[in-house]
Amino acid sequence: MPDTVTLLIEPLAADADATAVDGTFREVDASAPALRVGELSTQRGDGIFETIGVVDGHAQEVRPHLERLRNSARICELPEPNLAQWEAAIARAVGALPATGEFALKLVLSRGVEHGPAPTAWLHVSPAADFSAPRERGIRVVTLDRGYDRGTAERAPWLLLGAKTLSYAVNMAALREAHRHGADDTIFVTSDGYVMEGPTSSVILRHGDVWSTPAPSGAILHGTTQLSLFEHLEATDRRTEYRDIPVDELRSADAAWLVSSVRLAAGITELDGAPMPYDAAETRALNEYLLSPRD
Ligand code: PLP
Repeated sequence: MPDTVTLLIEPLAADADATAVDGTFREVDASAPALRVGELSTQRGDGIFETIGVVDGHAQEVRPHLERLRNSARICELPEPNLAQWEAAIARAVGALPATGEFALKLVLSRGVEHGPAPTAWLHVSPAADFSAPRERGIRVVTLDRGYDRGTAERAPWLLLGAKTLSYAVNMAALREAHRHGADDTIFVTSDGYVMEGPTSSVILRHGDVWSTPAPSGAILHGTTQLSLFEHLEATDRRTEYRDIPVDELRSADAAWLVSSVRLAAGITELDGAPMPYDAAETRALNEYLLSPRD
């Protein structure tokens, strides 16, 4: 069985009939050329994406990811995606994978080729990297100034903060900066000192028995993993809250994690060179939940 599947998708209008989905995607060889040179996703990073975890044949949280894809399309003024078509493409790709193992499934919707006429879309699923070390032993993190204050998203909507755009060069540069500081990852803070998110993850803290995460104000991406974890914590009678979190409260947390769809929960062991309390048992429990089938 292949462990990599790539589908090129002809995006349907959001209101197209479900019967129109048949025949709108075709499998291609990921190592062969598939995109045109005029493609705006490659020239300008002008498009949006989602990365979905697949665990033992189950694509996790498909609906929340597709709802976020739709929200990113709205922010970027891209045509509204047809969610039934994406669901069918995901089911087809996952059905072709081995029944066990972890995979990363990426959906991309770009503005297409310069001068149109249509957006370009594709799906690519491949084996996930081995994340056992960050899940079990945790990660060292440094904070980095994102260069924006808390009001930026409202003042400057053209920055597309809150959309999951393909323009991740800044996020990757921040990771390289973290590595230069001897850390594994970073947490962005606003220029006025509030916790935002990681370049590819959401931040969750615990003070006593209260779990918190930065309010999704429009400046950060609302993480599907964080949402799912909060639903799980609430269902097991833990208190959760969304709020503005000054960076000092991150430093005083009883435990903190970076969470995302494929790496899942990575506990923070060190923040800006100072040790952080690391809750190994809680981290194990979070990852057990995150690895269970979730919709
Ligand atoms: N924030 C950013 C900037 C991200 O890129 C990601 C995921 O890649 C997340 C948060 C976490 O989102 P999710 O839990 O849906 O993977």
